[in-house]
Amino acid sequence: MPALPEYKTRILLENYGVPMVPAVFLDQIPEVLPEPVVYLKAQIPGATSRAGRGLVRRASTENEIYTGLTELLTEQNCLGVLAAEAADIRHEYYAACLLDLGGSGSLPGGVLVFSPEGGTGIEKRTDSLIKIPFSLLDPPSAAEIKEKLLEVPNPDSLAEFLKKMIGTFIGYKLTVLETNPIAVVEDGSHLVIDCRAEFEKHGVPKKYAHLFELPGNTVSDTTPLEKAVESINADDPAGTGFFRAARNTVPEGAVAVATNLCGGGGKMLWEMATGGRTDIFTLNESDTSGGLSAFKSYRILRVILSQPEADVLVLTGSGMAFQNQYHLASAVWKALRESPSPLPSLLRFGGTDQEKAIQLMDEVSKDLPVEIRVFRPEIFPNAMIEQINSIVSENTVHQEFKAPEGELLFETATPPARFVYHPEKNPGGTEPVCVAECPTGFLVWKDSRITANPEAKCIGCLACETASLLRDNGVLTIELDLPEEVE
Ligand code: SF4
Repeated sequence: MPALPEYKTRILLENYGVPMVPAVFLDQIPEVLPEPVVYLKAQIPGATSRAGRGLVRRASTENEIYTGLTELLTEQNCLGVLAAEAADIRHEYYAACLLDLGGSGSLPGGVLVFSPEGGTGIEKRTDSLIKIPFSLLDPPSAAEIKEKLLEVPNPDSLAEFLKKMIGTFIGYKLTVLETNPIAVVEDGSHLVIDCRAEFEKHGVPKKYAHLFELPGNTVSDTTPLEKAVESINADDPAGTGFFRAARNTVPEGAVAVATNLCGGGGKMLWEMATGGRTDIFTLNESDTSGGLSAFKSYRILRVILSQPEADVLVLTGSGMAFQNQYHLASAVWKALRESPSPLPSLLRFGGTDQEKAIQLMDEVSKDLPVEIRVFRPEIFPNAMIEQINSIVSENTVHQEFKAPEGELLFETATPPARFVYHPEKNPGGTEPVCVAECPTGFLVWKDSRITANPEAKCIGCLACETASLLRDNGVLTIELDLPEEVE
């Protein structure tokens, strides 16, 4: 999702009365420099791990302020520099509000994530996180938040602070709002030291659009692959299919990771596990969830795999997905065998039919041109991420895939697909196993042919093609169109 830099996120939080460390935004060197000591922070949309990349500097003299401003203002994609006063910090907390899109058994809502230990390295302290789900229509009061905060000093002030943060998140329809650290200062009150927000550009209320616009119109700088996903969504709208490419270039020495994250849980786990890492660069944000078909998962995976800089693919959800994991695994298998640029992959399946998904990947992995490692939901993504370096291959894999020619049986409109029959693979003319695999009864065997039952619907699960390839010698294949940006 598009990201708001810190100086813009501050405006949103200030509008809801969240106390902030005093700071001034500078898009050029001013005639009168700010009073030292200040922290100079480059404002680059989507930039993470700024301290490790030298994009945050402590300046304790006018000379250091001048030099710091001069250098940071010329950084790539830098919109300006935030000069923030140095606060007298006694303790640091972490808090984030995340959008949870829900599933077939739960409504969409928000999750407040709080840690009594904030600052750098939060991704390594996931054990300390307190998660408080909240309703977007009926957010919790300060008293209700306070009840969940276990034992923190000055809980009334902190609960009030977090309530205002939730108000900001809901009021501006954000998808992520993170404050880290929240400083506890000498009098026990709380101040935001650093913050960032993400949003869905179509979700921004019109009256607030000006707050989300950035110089250079970066709100609408859609990339070709983002356009490809927009077109996939246009002809198969069910479920969430989201993709946003990073705007920064891959830092030298970092591994470029293409991500397929499933739902708010997958996104949260990924951010927790990689937020402070400078050796891992997230090439794209993504979300495939909310009951999308495996056809659509496949098409979005093809977009994700087509990122030329990518070294590795990571796929994970919350570990408790309602989206059928076997169908998702079928989409992953199809994408890895048909993409011209398959990637070594770390795949974590958890949720409905997870055992079938894991079994499928085990069965097909030996015939794939890239290494894949499959993880169970009990494995936290930290453990997957520790394996990124060891799975990256020195040699980029390119393969050619040509859909086998056969007889077009029929096409489905939603989700869109072409079903192709290969009679030479079924010389006996008996009913292939794949027909009975169809969970909706859409496929029927009639007059020695596979036909479509007009009384049933295809849900785009790919179970028939998977069974056909594994048990029927490939008698039935499915062709799914891709946008030209991917082809
Ligand atoms: S025909 Fe049946 S098995 Fe095949 S994709 Fe459609 S619903 Fe799934």
